[in-house]
Amino acid sequence: MTNVFIVSAPSGSGKSTLVNRLLAEDPRLDFSISYTTRAPRGNEKDGESYHYIGREDFQARNAKNEFLEWAEVFGNYYGTHISSLEQAQAQRHDLVLDIDVQGARQLKQRIPYAVSIFILAPSREILEKRLRARSEDSEAVIERRLREAANEIRNYADYDYVLVNDQVEDSVRNLQAIVAAERVRRIRMEERIGPILATFDR
Ligand code: ADP
Ligand code: 5GP
Repeated sequence: MTNVFIVSAPSGSGKSTLVNRLLAEDPRLDFSISYTTRAPRGNEKDGESYHYIGREDFQARNAKNEFLEWAEVFGNYYGTHISSLEQAQAQRHDLVLDIDVQGARQLKQRIPYAVSIFILAPSREILEKRLRARSEDSEAVIERRLREAANEIRNYADYDYVLVNDQVEDSVRNLQAIVAAERVRRIRMEERIGPILATFDR
C-alpha cells in the first residue's frame, strides 16, 4: 500500500532542503511532480520541478478530472496529476507531495490515509534571514512572502505533524522518523501479517 506524504510550508522554511534530503536517502520515496501554469524560474526544467503547461491546457485537464487536487496559488494554477499516485502504486513506492494548504485539505478528503506534515521556521526573524540568505527574491517579494507566511502558518492545525526546522540534521531525522513510523502502522502491515499468521496455523 502506497503511503502518501503531504508536505506544506511557507516559502523559505526549508521545505525543499528537507524534502530533497529525504528523497535522496530513500529510494522507495517518489516525488510527485505537479502541473503548473506558472513560468519556469531560473534553471528549472520542464519535467523536473514541474510540468509547465498553459492555462487552457490546465483547465481542459481539470475538466477531465486528471488532477487529484488543484489550487490557484499567487495567480497560477497548480495540480497533482493522478498518474503520480498511480506510478508510485505500480512501483510499490511511497509518494511525497509538496503542495499548499488548499491542496492538502482536498487530498486529505480524497485520500484519508494521507499523512500531512507542516514545516515551520523557528521564528519570523529566522524565516526572514533564510529568505535573504537564499538571495533568490527581490525585497518586495521577500516582504510579500513574509506576509503570506503569517497567513499560511494559521493552517498548521489541519496537519498531522508539525516540524520546526531549526537544525537541518534534526529535521531530516524527524522527517525520516515520520516516514518510518507510518510504514509500520498496523493497517499497512496486513499484507505481511497474513503469511506470518499462516505459519502458526498448523
Ligand atoms: P523552501 O523550499 O521552504 O522555500 P528552502 O529549502 O529553499 O526553503 O530554504 C530556504 C533557505 O534556508 C535556503 O537558503 C536553505 O539553504 C536555508 N535553510 C533551510 N533549512 C535550514 C536550516 N535548518 N537552518 C539554516 N538554514 C536553512
Ligand atoms: P512555487 O511556485 O514557489 O514552486 O510554489 C508555490 C506554492 O504552490 C507552494 O506552496 C507549493 O507547495 C504549491 N504547490 C506546488 N505544486 C502544487 C500542487 O500540485 N497543488 C497545490 N495545491 N499546490 C502546489
